[in-house]
Amino acid sequence: MSEPRPDVLVIGGGVIGLSCALALARAGRAVTVLERAVAGSGASHGNCGTITPSHALPLAQPGVVAQGLKWLLKPDAPLRIAPTLDPARLAWLARFALNCTQAQVERVAPAKAALLNRSRDLLERFVREEGIDCEFGHEGELQVFRTRRALDAACTELEVLRAHGVPVEVWDAARVEREEPALKPGVAGGLYWPSDAHIRPDRYVAALAERARAAGVTIRERSEVSAFERDGARLVAVRFGSERLAAPQILLAGGAWSPRIVRDLDLRLPIQPGKGYSITYTRPIRAPRRPLVLAEPRVCVTTWGSGFRLGSTMEFAGYDDTLNRVRLDALVRGASEFLHEPVGPERVEDWWGWRPMTTDDLPILGACARVPGLWFATGHGMLGMSMSNASAELLAAQMLGQDTVLDPTPYSPARFGL
Ligand SMILES: Cc1cc2nc3c(=O)[nH]c(=O)nc-3n(C[C@H](O)[C@H](O)[C@H](O)COP(=O)(O)OP(=O)(O)OC[C@H]3O[C@@H](n4cnc5c(N)ncnc54)[C@H](O)[C@@H]3O)c2cc1C
Repeated sequence: MSEPRPDVLVIGGGVIGLSCALALARAGRAVTVLERAVAGSGASHGNCGTITPSHALPLAQPGVVAQGLKWLLKPDAPLRIAPTLDPARLAWLARFALNCTQAQVERVAPAKAALLNRSRDLLERFVREEGIDCEFGHEGELQVFRTRRALDAACTELEVLRAHGVPVEVWDAARVEREEPALKPGVAGGLYWPSDAHIRPDRYVAALAERARAAGVTIRERSEVSAFERDGARLVAVRFGSERLAAPQILLAGGAWSPRIVRDLDLRLPIQPGKGYSITYTRPIRAPRRPLVLAEPRVCVTTWGSGFRLGSTMEFAGYDDTLNRVRLDALVRGASEFLHEPVGPERVEDWWGWRPMTTDDLPILGACARVPGLWFATGHGMLGMSMSNASAELLAAQMLGQDTVLDPTPYSPARFGL
């Protein structure tokens, strides 16, 4: 099949690939997206849909390794690390563990906050100006604690977040119970994050794909990139099925699959799949008024007009594509400790997805110095929905040779020698 040679080829049709494709097409570039399955069917499908500047602190923090070790033998713990001899996974875990320092928190938090705050504003503007039907809500997010100890520990981090432009209010138990009647009594208190928001992710990504097509983007589904062609060092084309497509700029937005996609280019991307789960129900009568994070079991609860989702948990088990019932059940058990109605009347979907986790919890955005012609927009970890708009803005500006709004340095592939 012959098709005009695109200016940019995007590998991966998740929220990141589609957001970048849309930004580039609106700047006048001819863009083709190649998607292995169906656009929006990866991690961008069944996630919790929360837009969270509140999550600006990195996952790698002092104490996380000790906590992870305590959870090693507990199959339903919020974090699970499956035993492995896989060198890539072991290297990733070692690098992550070395990043669990206060110095690293101070380096990463401002960069995460800048991307999250900018993205949240751009998302709201995009949704409002274009009338995107994705059940956008801006009632903030409430993190609820049942133990004083966990609440006090969380409060020690608030000044750092405030310093980076993330507003937060500490609510006592009475205020939490008054504001959120869906909760059972007996909470210790809560943290209210007024600038957080939420969307229904599948609807958002479907609208994004529709806007991208309207802007001229060609989205080719069931087109799995399996090989690359180089001219000297330069990357010039990709192969998928029996086809070949050339482009001067090739953008890798393959989410958790990214390291596997570029393995033959001899690039070692420090990304591991961080598997998470969700269960979607029809909406219960006593549904929470705003998204909740149930602190101790680390369960996220999102309510939309069209449904209700319990989600989260983090499992490092490589590219294991089975649905682990123990971990799904842990979501319901966690929600039952906090909510009068922890599940909705009808169970609509059990789902898992692979988060593309980097070792420093920042995405990789920019040109690949080792392979001219290759660009990265990957590694968005737990926050791809929340970071997608600003990531696309930043990456598109770089690809177009324009000035960027945010300083691109913290997200540069160069930090990993890429
Ligand atoms: C349980 C759970 C809850 C989450 N909750 C939130 C949340 O509340 N807020 C938030 O901001 N983030 C959340 N996330 C994280 C978020 O879902 C991800 O960061 C985001 O979806 C990543 O987007 P992506 O486009 O990089 O990856 P994906 O959506 O996974 O897209 C990558 C695409 O690449 C395609 N692909 C793979 N290989 C190839 C190939 N060889 N050729 C062509 N295409 C290929 C895949 O099919 C896939 O469609 C959550 C994740 C999980 C799992």
